[in-house]
Order: sequence, then structure tokens, then C-alpha cells
Amino acid sequence: MPEKFQTPRGFKDILPLEHNFFTLIKKVARHRFRQAGFLRISTSMLENLEVFARGIGADTDIVSKEMFYFESRSGKKMVLKPEGTAGVIRAFIEHGMQSWAQPVQLYYFEPHFRYERPQKGRFRQFWQCCAEVLGARDPLVDAQIIILAWKIIKDLKIADSVSLQINSLGSPADRAKFIDELHNFFEPRSRALCDDCRSRLQKNPLRILDCKNEDCQILVKTAPKLSNFLNDDSRKFYEQVLQFLTDLKVPFVENENLVRGLDYYCDTVFEFQTNSDGAQNAICGGGRYDGLCEILGGPATPAVGFAFGVERVIEEMKKKNISPPEKDFTQIFVACLGDVAQSECLKILSDLQDLGIHVRGAFGKSSMKSQLKTADRLGAQFCLILGDVEIREKNVILRNMENGEQENIPLDEVQKVIAEKFPPQKRDFYNLEI
Ligand code: AMP
Repeated sequence: MPEKFQTPRGFKDILPLEHNFFTLIKKVARHRFRQAGFLRISTSMLENLEVFARGIGADTDIVSKEMFYFESRSGKKMVLKPEGTAGVIRAFIEHGMQSWAQPVQLYYFEPHFRYERPQKGRFRQFWQCCAEVLGARDPLVDAQIIILAWKIIKDLKIADSVSLQINSLGSPADRAKFIDELHNFFEPRSRALCDDCRSRLQKNPLRILDCKNEDCQILVKTAPKLSNFLNDDSRKFYEQVLQFLTDLKVPFVENENLVRGLDYYCDTVFEFQTNSDGAQNAICGGGRYDGLCEILGGPATPAVGFAFGVERVIEEMKKKNISPPEKDFTQIFVACLGDVAQSECLKILSDLQDLGIHVRGAFGKSSMKSQLKTADRLGAQFCLILGDVEIREKNVILRNMENGEQENIPLDEVQKVIAEKFPPQKRDFYNLEI
């Protein structure tokens, strides 16, 4: 027996029913992005390692252990993109977007890849729906982007189990001072930390703050507070963001321990979290990253963005029994027997598709009984039946699949009869407007 293959660990196929969720989320997000003047971008799936190593930070979890890394045939160090922002900045610089109208507002819906230990809500390939605003440092912009994410969450009907957590990381200098203090605080207490946090203490002490381990959390309660390290400008900036959110009635919770995993963040950071207990309860994360463009060799370009984890949004929708509309139904099935009927069958299929009807036919040589069974399995409302006799008599049988009633209709009236049964609002039209 030849070996049967499966998707690699942490990867999965998206089957048609699951795609209904993807389609809905993409539609909702695109609608909101367009209203707010965002343009779509897709950056390349592969990037040079340095884009992320320099951009995200060599000591972050993502870069130090989670990248799908390989050497190209010519010896270049390449990675499958683990997140979107650094690639967007690379594209911003490469395509000279600093000369576009500022700020540049971009959105994308893309797969990302991280070599993480797969578990519930955590995959090695996962989709993100993201927005980035490049070229503005203004609390209004931060508030605007958070409001946009909140609108998407409300449109998807999951707002009542989601809370917005927000914090400010201050400037890179504030953060560096704070990290020193954290290090000094945890070093003598390191034996009480979990294994992960002991290694974080050396590499990235900030991440101890959002560790879920209970012992670590007890220590964190008495640890130095980031808010005591913010410079005046950052403090004012943060207060304004909160004020704008309050003015627009967007509920939020200030969370001093929210630090996010990547080095490039400064000032505003936020996450939309579900109220489920699991560790993977963030459905959207974002923040400001004013220094990233310069780190990647571009002009000073303050920026802010967010990323939704699409699979986690879907999980939350399923938990609340929210299902996307099913639009892939079959309205009419065309069954045919005999060689002469085949070409007529093809013509009917084509004509009815042009009318906006969802129609499919049997092209094999199976019996009429098995064709009708297929029509039934597909849930077709009507079946058009064509055999050599019908063709000779220039007729076609129209069978109502619900009650089994049949009638003969003249071949040249098929479109008219079907159009009467399916008024325009029951048909599928797409206006290409080219
Ligand atoms: P991050 O910027 O890493 O916080 O990612 C933003 C969002 O993407 C998170 O809030 C999650 O919803 C989602 N996400 C991140 N990593 C994964 C993963 N490995 N599997 C599924 N979703 C993920």
C-alpha cells in the first residue's frame, strides 16, 4: 500500500464549510477597512531572516525559536513570514511609500508561520487580518485604529465576550530603564520563577509580566510598575488615547502587565481578549511601533497597527453558535441520459448560470436513479431531466425535488420558467463594473 499523507503538524486544510467563516470575516473586515480608507497589500511569503531578526528582536520567542527558517540554494537565510508588520515596513521602504499621501493606511489578510508547539488556538500556519497606519504619531490615530478593530468585533457579533486590554510601554529609553529595574527585582527572586521565566529573565524580562504561571503572577504583583517609568510625552499620549476611547464609548481595561511579545512596540499596546480561561485568549493584538522603519533602514516613520488571529475569531464565533451564511447551495441539478442530451445539458447549465442560478449537472454516464440521488444529496430544489426522448420531442422534465412533482416544459422555455421560479432576489449576481 502506498503511504498516505497528512498535513504537517500544526498545519491544516481549510475545507469549504470552514471557508464560509473566512469569507465572512474577510468581507466584514474589508468593508470596515474600505470605509476608513485603507488599501490592501500582500507582502511576500518569504523574507530575508534579517527583516525579522532586526525588526522583531533577536531575543524574542518568535525570532529565537519559532521561525520556519531555511537556507536557499544560494546560501541566503530565508524565513516564512512569522508576522506581517516587519514585511510591510520592508515594502514601505522598498516601494518609496513615504512619498504617498501620509499616513499610509494598509490592510492585509494573510497566512503566517510560526514553529510553535501546536495546541488549542495555536497553529504553525495561521491567518491574520491586519491593519497598519504608517507615517503618523498621534493619539487620534491609535484611537481610530482601535475603534476600527472594535467595529469588526461588533460586526462579527462576538463583542459581548471580548474585552479590550490596553497599556503604554513608553519610549524605548523608558522601557530600557524599566527592564533594568525588572531585572534587579527578579534576579534575587529567580528561584520562585517558572523555567520559562528564568530564561526570560536573561533575555526578555518584560515577558515575565504576562506569564500565566501562578507563582510568577504572585511575584509580578509586587514588581516595579511600568507606569512609574513613562516620560511626560508618553504619559500624555496614553491619556489622550484613553480619553478618545472613552469619548467614543469603547470599553477598555487598563492592564499594566500587557507587554506584547515583540521588541518593536512603544507607547500604546493593546489586545482584545476573550473571557475564556485558556492561555490563547487573545483574538487581536496591536500597538505602536515608531522606531521600526528606521531599524529596517528606512526614514523615521511612526506607525501603529493590529492583527486579528482569524482562527481564534472563528473559534469564538463557533462558541457562540454564530454561523456564517451558507451561499454555496445548489438550486438546480441538470440530469441527462444519452449522448444527444449531453450538449443540450451543457447549454442549459451555461444559460442558467448566466441567469444567476446556482446550477450543476451530471457529466458522467451514471444512471438516472443515481443522478437523482446526487441531486438530492446536493439539496437541489429542482432537477431538469433530459433524455434522448425529451430531446426528440424538444421537451425537458422539471422535477420538484421536495414533493416529487414533475412537469414537461418546452426546451426553449427553460430559462423563462426557471426565471419565474427564482425571482432576482433569489439569484446570484456579481457586478464586475469593469
Ligand atoms: P501577535 O502579534 O503575535 O500577538 O499575534 C496577533 C494575533 O494573532 C494573536 O492575538 C492571535 O489571535 C493570533 N495568533 C498569533 N499566533 C498564533 C498562532 N500560533 N496560532 C493561531 N493564532 C495566532
